[in-house]
Amino acid sequence: MKILIVEDEIQLADALCELLKRNTYSADVCYNGIDGLDNALTGVYDCIILDIMLPGMNGLDVLRHMRNEKINTPVLLLTARSEVNDKINGLDCGADDYLTKPFVTGELLARIRALTRRKGEIVDENRLQFNGLVLNKNTCSISCGNNDVKLSLKEYNVMEMLIANPGQILPKERIIEKIWGSESDVEYNNIEVYISFLRKKIASISADVQIKTARGIGYFME
Ligand code: CA
Repeated sequence: MKILIVEDEIQLADALCELLKRNTYSADVCYNGIDGLDNALTGVYDCIILDIMLPGMNGLDVLRHMRNEKINTPVLLLTARSEVNDKINGLDCGADDYLTKPFVTGELLARIRALTRRKGEIVDENRLQFNGLVLNKNTCSISCGNNDVKLSLKEYNVMEMLIANPGQILPKERIIEKIWGSESDVEYNNIEVYISFLRKKIASISADVQIKTARGIGYFME
């Protein structure tokens, strides 16, 4: 696995590079956005760790250019606590996940593992599949073998996000932003209710798939 680190805090960038190498990844470092974009456009990386505030070109512009060039490498954004709006913009620009600085290295490694796991398989344009569980767009249902259960529209939307990104932790705020919109007053408790409905429905069709909780962060499918 090859990871690109784009971070202008040299000590942090070098420490991340060392950490990744100790954990069997190969890693390249860029200390500014322009070099970062050049490297990202090669398309050889399995994951990119991208800081937002960078000299030359900021991380969001790097991301926007990459996605315009159809480089779909998973991107983990690094954000400072004060950059809430940047975080939202980042997800809109096509980031896959984000981590707020300062972070613990264990969490960074977990996020990278999740981002580099295999994606759910697209059966056809109306069906997504993960480990035998099929999400059917036409019938707004999930099925496994001959078992089938209907979903509400919101349940379907949540399930679609999870199944499109299996193994990847979806932060609760990202689920809310995507499905209810950032202006909504939906609270974390509401998401938990939908997740618990979905868990019961998945169990009811005996699918070998679980929605797991990443404590304090969000959910992922396994
Ligand atoms: Ca920076």
